[in-house]
Amino acid sequence: MMPELPEVETVRRQLHAALAGQTILKVALYLTGREVPAGPLFVAGVVGKTVESIDRRAKLLIWRFTDGSGFVGHLKMTGKFLLVPLDYTPAKHDRLKFITKSSAVIWNDVRKFGYVKAFANAAELESLLTSYGPEPLISTAADLASRLLTPKTRVLKAALLDQTVIAGIGNIYADEACHRSGLRPTRRLSTLSAAQRLTLSTEIKNVLSASLALNGTTSNNYLDVNGERGGFVDFLQVYGRAGQPCRTCASPIKKLTLAGRGTHYCPQCQK
Ligand SMILES: [Zn+2]
Repeated sequence: MMPELPEVETVRRQLHAALAGQTILKVALYLTGREVPAGPLFVAGVVGKTVESIDRRAKLLIWRFTDGSGFVGHLKMTGKFLLVPLDYTPAKHDRLKFITKSSAVIWNDVRKFGYVKAFANAAELESLLTSYGPEPLISTAADLASRLLTPKTRVLKAALLDQTVIAGIGNIYADEACHRSGLRPTRRLSTLSAAQRLTLSTEIKNVLSASLALNGTTSNNYLDVNGERGGFVDFLQVYGRAGQPCRTCASPIKKLTLAGRGTHYCPQCQK
């Protein structure tokens, strides 16, 4: 399970609150191999820079510095940015430590799929972001619905997971949005009516907002910058609930593999 929009946005807000206006005085590199450029070059591009903002696009965190440079960070499966005190002792799987006057941020990644990648200016950043579809929380439901028209034979679940279609949705919220909409994730796009696409798009926005309000979902790995779990896990209707009764109709939730991912739905509520 990978952090999705609500989890990454939670981390963004917390990092922004801690780091905006702070200068990175020192960077400790504990484990190399997942930063671009590698090793001392990455460190040299960050030390002495002042954080203007921490932003987000899709599931990418964007550390913007006041000189226009910065880096993007992708948490992938197990990457974490953790706020720690200045006297923190490095732990296993810590890769980088960013030190400011008042605190430090650890980049830790157990499974090493995550990465940080520097950019020199706005044009370089733009080139890292070109492939993403619209941001669901700031797009209208009608705009999102228009993304779910083609290719007609595409399976709904696959379309929802595709970051070029709509940005930020992953396995959890794809399944939850389908359940809220009464649509099976196995549906082909061509079988969806205009009303169904609009309902689904509205529910995508609703479920992402509801989860964000509870700092996201922790089903196994995700932790926010304070090491806290996301509270939305208690409100999941289908994800991770295979065999358990649907909270709406009590039918057992089914699980199948779709688009290469474990997919959960209620055979009674979803058509
Ligand atoms: Zn049901």
